[in-house]
Amino acid sequence: MYDQSLDQDSLTQLTLKTELSHALAEGQLALVYQPKLNLRNGKVQGVEALLRWRHPERGMILPGQFISLAEQRGLMHHLTQWVMNEALRQHREWADQGVKLKVAINVSTSVLYDLDLPDKVAQLLSRWGAPPTALELEITEEATMRDPERALTILSRLSAMGVSLAIDDFGTGYSFLGYLKRLPVNKIKIDKSFVVEMLSSDSDAKIVHATIDLAHNLGLHVVAEGVESEAILRKLSRMNCDIAQGLGISSPLAGRDMLAWLAAGVSATEIQPIPSVFPA
Ligand code: C2E
Ligand code: MG
Ligand code: MG
Repeated sequence: MYDQSLDQDSLTQLTLKTELSHALAEGQLALVYQPKLNLRNGKVQGVEALLRWRHPERGMILPGQFISLAEQRGLMHHLTQWVMNEALRQHREWADQGVKLKVAINVSTSVLYDLDLPDKVAQLLSRWGAPPTALELEITEEATMRDPERALTILSRLSAMGVSLAIDDFGTGYSFLGYLKRLPVNKIKIDKSFVVEMLSSDSDAKIVHATIDLAHNLGLHVVAEGVESEAILRKLSRMNCDIAQGLGISSPLAGRDMLAWLAAGVSATEIQPIPSVFPA
């Protein structure tokens, strides 16, 4: 049956795809930063940079609507280069005001397989005078599985430089643990689909708990994303989770608002620090 809305949808997609090429040049893209709270000491230990498109007519467009269009148009390398530069510029600005925050950026599959990625990262770190530990790259399980040997080569170079690596959306892919163990990653981020309902869903809570234990046994730190309430935060803390991120702590903030937010203190998080599972 003919459905006019489908045509309208593909028309919108097509228009956005064309407009995306100009969006960067015209300064319509911006980063927002979501704090990551260390549950061991109650301190914000870093932020995740998330891309936003402030469209002149359509308003704010979320990455879910345009990242795949950027991939299709072959714009991802250019876009990621911009994201990385902007995130490190922001890191520098905060550092100049006395606050050192590790910035994490999301790296899509095509960018992960760029053999020049480690050199590009090194160049940007040196441009902004930032140590490699200032940067974290978030990659998905699926991305690492497309060509495991090549991913291993590139990730090993980044890791040897001192850049942190995290597996994003953990639990939604199909990677096998034997491979995960070989990857030089520091953290896994449990996908928000398991975290948001862990108070009402017993099976989600069990998955989260088991994933935390598994990660710790592999020597990895665990970030829970999608932490929407203080109750979830407390439960995660009891489950020995290391780091939490989500609307219950803070929504993603503009870079210029971050230091004021930090100065005001993390209100939802007056939780008891828990001891580290790893030696200091
Ligand atoms: P992600 O990396 O898993 O990022 C987490 C997403 O969860 C973000 O959505 C964030 O705004 C959202 N979120 C944060 N707290 C909560 C919460 O408490 N509950 C729920 N339900 N959601 C929460 P956002 O900003 O729309 O980004 C979506 C995805 O787009 C990201 O997922 C990431 O995969 C991708 N993305 C964002 N920025 C970039 C980028 O610069 N480059 C690339 N390649 N991908 C990006
Ligand atoms: Mg991410
Ligand atoms: Mg995620």
